[in-house]
Amino acid sequence: MHLHPPRWLAALPGEAEERTGVRQVSAAAWSAVRATPVSAPRLLAHSPALARDLGFSPDALSTPWFAEVLSGNRLLPGMRPIATNYGGHQFGHWAGQLGDGRAILLGEAEAVDGRRWELQLKGAGPTPYSRSADGRAVLRSSLREFICSEAMQALGVPTTRALSLVATGEAVVRDLLYQGDPRPEPGAIVCRVAPSFTRFGHFELPAARGDLGLLRRMVEVTIAQEFPQLSGPNATAEFFAEVARRSAVMVAHWMRVGFVHGVMNTDNMSILGLTIDYGPFGWVENFDPDWTPNTTDAQRRRYRFGTQPQVAHWNLAALASALAPLFGDDQAPLHAGMDAYARAFQQAQAGMSADKLGLAEWRDDDSALLQELYRWMQAAQIDMPLFFRRIAALDPATTSPQDLADLSYAPQQFEREAVALSDWLARYAVRLASEAEHPPLRRARMDAANPLYVPRNWLLQQAIDAAEQGDLAELQALQAVLERPYETQPGAERFAAMRPAWALDRPGCSALSCSS
Ligand code: AMP
Ligand code: MG
Repeated sequence: MHLHPPRWLAALPGEAEERTGVRQVSAAAWSAVRATPVSAPRLLAHSPALARDLGFSPDALSTPWFAEVLSGNRLLPGMRPIATNYGGHQFGHWAGQLGDGRAILLGEAEAVDGRRWELQLKGAGPTPYSRSADGRAVLRSSLREFICSEAMQALGVPTTRALSLVATGEAVVRDLLYQGDPRPEPGAIVCRVAPSFTRFGHFELPAARGDLGLLRRMVEVTIAQEFPQLSGPNATAEFFAEVARRSAVMVAHWMRVGFVHGVMNTDNMSILGLTIDYGPFGWVENFDPDWTPNTTDAQRRRYRFGTQPQVAHWNLAALASALAPLFGDDQAPLHAGMDAYARAFQQAQAGMSADKLGLAEWRDDDSALLQELYRWMQAAQIDMPLFFRRIAALDPATTSPQDLADLSYAPQQFEREAVALSDWLARYAVRLASEAEHPPLRRARMDAANPLYVPRNWLLQQAIDAAEQGDLAELQALQAVLERPYETQPGAERFAAMRPAWALDRPGCSALSCSS
């Protein structure tokens, strides 16, 4: 495997001289940094698939050397660590300079197939962008990011990847729910991997500062490095439209699998349309468009499940405003990009909804069928992943509401909605009959769109509780099951179960903050 310095080093202005201390960094897209060594790095988990793609030999993975590199204690030839400079709109307000406060880009790995991947450590110590924080990350949030990144990849959702989870051997003090109760927790570092970690905020910051030179250069470099197929006088417009389309596809996938990001700020939006920055994310269990896992969502539920398509649109509008000075008097291309988002989302969602319901094509009145289903699922508090797997296996023409009663978290509400369900099943049966698709084909189509295994918060929490006690078996079992989320795996029933009652008021399961 070949390692190269980050391409930004040569392409964009930056602070080449390492300098400690938190500060405002102007006219620069990056700062040279050094990871702060940790005392006892130990590899807890890694992604075998990603390691293989990158060309790490299986022998190398099990050596202490690997943990030394993936904790930032040791640099390999070719690595030139930097932290990058970005801003962002958080919870609807401009937040100024943010930057990689605890992420350190080590360099780029040239994979076996010649593709380039950036390697980034999260939690490897402070940078100029750490503001008042420590640059570290705790095991619970790192384990969540590690598992969920690779689970999303297996689910077919665009995402940044996670190569490794390393325990630092050091404690990190955090106040779990911001309730004035700080405690030491075990520290950890995740090595994230992506073609690029560029965010909307990388463009917003120079734009907000009126630094049009840097803004323009940032766009040129991003197009050249990440969108080389775009060129000519319309390249910037096409770039924005492409970001819009990719964001639309990403969010449509989130809606398909029931993923709630929880902190959809513009600094957490990838220019490649990848799911990035796993924090207080969650998975829909009882279907509820109003649900958010993030208890720090100050404006109460700005980042709910059902609002994600609108929030992505809002975030794109913020990116469009940042790019506006590059378009002078003719802003039409940016409006066209916003329209491209709406079209791409609609198209992606129609296709995915058809697959979820096992329909060969999506017709105009199918939206009403789906909306009625979602209304009923919300009212009767139905487990979303389990419901879609169940109806794929049944013939709706002969299914009675009682066949689905065990999927409700609220038996009384279920009873109240039983007639509505009956009606819906009848409509669905008629709709399916109109296509006359072979039932096994329909089921295969549905099962390929509706995951059976997703990293529900309480499953992650069980893996965290055990790992904090030094027991990695639960983490390994969860990781293995999530490698094949669409395939029924004998023996894995407990990973495809309804949320247990204890998870309702357990922090980390029902309530998640940004503390990490
Ligand atoms: P997030 O809410 O995790 O997306 O983070 C928002 C900003 O806070 C980013 O600039 C992060 O780099 C920074 N940040 C979050 N946690 C820490 C930490 N423990 N140390 C330094 N910076 C942090
Ligand atoms: Mg972030």
